[in-house]
Amino acid sequence: MELLKGVHVIESYATTTLLVDDRLVLGDTGVEDDTRMILDALAKLRVKPRDLATIFITHTHPDHVGGLATFKRDSPAKVAAHRIEAEYVSRARTYDGPPRVQRHPGTVVDVLLEDGQVYDGLRVIFTPGHTRGSMSLLDETRSLLIAGDALNNEHGLGPMDDQFNVDPQQHRASIKRLATLQFDTAIFGHGAPMKGGASARVTELAKRL
Ligand SMILES: [Zn+2]
Repeated sequence: MELLKGVHVIESYATTTLLVDDRLVLGDTGVEDDTRMILDALAKLRVKPRDLATIFITHTHPDHVGGLATFKRDSPAKVAAHRIEAEYVSRARTYDGPPRVQRHPGTVVDVLLEDGQVYDGLRVIFTPGHTRGSMSLLDETRSLLIAGDALNNEHGLGPMDDQFNVDPQQHRASIKRLATLQFDTAIFGHGAPMKGGASARVTELAKRL
């Protein structure tokens, strides 16, 4: 689905986002079993993995990092993740938070991101608590937040279920931080995207936490 001009949302078990500008940027790569479906969705948009400039990984959970190794196999795309999360994406370290099991093939992270940094048009918002190095991405040009699992919109807007959060309190603090930002549209790791007035909705939620 083309949510905004140049913003394609591919919904599998978790959401993958494709941004189309003069460069092509992918946000998250789904579970491994959905890779074929995501590749087909990209093919319909005439996009091949080798055309991608950057693959951002919001966090190391299997439903966000699962397809990465397959995407990277035929692609010179740079893999970008928060500095803390990068070690888990590459499997240099074993992730110790829920769901505890990591099965994805380790993939080297080329770009180690820091909070506030802008890379390939996206501003990094460090949103730890769901995992240790979770991040969200802000596209200021489009007034778009790619939340990853810093927020959940499966049953209305809320936090992720705490059984999946490494630090529930920190997760809520990250939501409060997102509530200080301005964005019209938001894409979530799980649940329908929100178009128009999205940051006001996050502010409302933050007040209830
Ligand atoms: Zn997650």
